[in-house]
This record gives sequence, structure tokens and C-alpha cells, in this order.
Amino acid sequence: MRPGEAHLRLVLATGNPGKAAELAAVLGAAEGLAGLELLPRPPDLPEPEEDGDTLVANARIKALTVVAACGEAAVADDTGLEVAALGGAPGLRTARYAGEGATFDDNIAKLLGELDGVADRRARWRTVALVAFPDGRELAAEGTCDGVIAEARRGEGGFGYDPVFVPDAGDGRTLAELDREEKNSLSHRGHAFRALAARLASLPP
Ligand code: IMP
Repeated sequence: MRPGEAHLRLVLATGNPGKAAELAAVLGAAEGLAGLELLPRPPDLPEPEEDGDTLVANARIKALTVVAACGEAAVADDTGLEVAALGGAPGLRTARYAGEGATFDDNIAKLLGELDGVADRRARWRTVALVAFPDGRELAAEGTCDGVIAEARRGEGGFGYDPVFVPDAGDGRTLAELDREEKNSLSHRGHAFRALAARLASLPP
């Protein structure tokens, strides 16, 4: 099977159900990828150590772990939140901002604490989406989403820092107050995966 063909199969490197649902919606709707089959991450596969020093390097580590285990092409992403007033932090440390094993709630609490009384609340999400093939080829694309960090949590949807991120391209609601389709239309991950899908669809047969 060749990557540009309608029967492309990709194993998802993420085990995060919120993220998997977003990817399935974006890639499933992409033009030119009508026959795409997305397979879940094998449940017993251990999480790799994300010790790369860029988002691309970490996305590659995640994808290659799955390629090595399954022998099939895998799709991964890595994401960082860059807060202007914090000099671009937490960046690569976004998942473990409040320490190893931090929960979403711990991370949000730390961020709101750091920005307590800070007027400049500008922030940017950045995602790298990457497909790695068993023959060593890879394709990658980046997406960003600019916004501000809210003063307090709002909304129940999404995951991670969504309750405190208000995208500039929206109407003042946080990402957690948007439904999945609205979030995908303007989010960093939506932009990155639509760009990746276009590249996958245009691969030569
Ligand atoms: P990862 O690289 O995708 O694992 O994401 C790094 C960190 O950013 C994790 O703590 C995620 O929960 C968080 N994160 C990634 N994407 C989003 C998003 O779309 N909204 C909110 N938090 C996110």
C-alpha cells in the first residue's frame, strides 16, 4: 500500500481520548483522505520518554515508538503553550508544568498563580503533527493558535488547559466552552492536522 492511496492506515500515537477524538474528526473530514483508517494506540504500549528539545523531535519520538511496536505508519503530535509574560514558558514543559505527574488541574492552578495580577495575558499554542512511515519517511506540519489566558476557568469541554485559553479567533469563550467542531476550526491542532492531511493527500502514489 502506498501512502497517498485511499486506503492509508495510520496508528494513533496518542492515548488521550480527547485528543484522539479531535484528530479523528479533523483527519476524517480532510479532502483526499476519504479512505483513511485510524487505528487506536495499542493499550499495553508504554509511553516513551519525551526528551527531545523541540516539538518536532518529541512528535517523532512518539510516532517512532508506535511504528517500532506495530510495523505500521503512525501519526503523532506534540504541543506547547507559550505565554508571553513568562518568556515563552511553559513551552516544552507544558504537560509537566506543575511537576512530574501533574494533573490538568494542577497545571492550570500553577499558570493562574504565575499570572496573578499580570496584565499581559497573551499566549500561543503551537502543535507539530507528524506521520512516520515504517520505511523511514516522515511528513510534518505546524499549527498555532493565538489567544489570552483567562483570569479563571470557564467551560467543561475539551481537555488540558482549555478552560483558561481564550482564542483571539473566537468570540470570547474559552476553548472549553466551544464544541469539538468549533475548537477544531480554529485550534493549533486543527490547523496542524489539516496542513498534514493536505500533505498526505498530495503524496505521489
Ligand atoms: P502534548 O504534547 O500534546 O502531550 O501536550 C502537552 C500539554 O499541553 C498537555 O498537558 C496537554 O494536556 C496540553 N494540551 C495539548 N493540547 C491542548 C489543547 O488543545 N488544549 C488544552 N491543552 C492542551
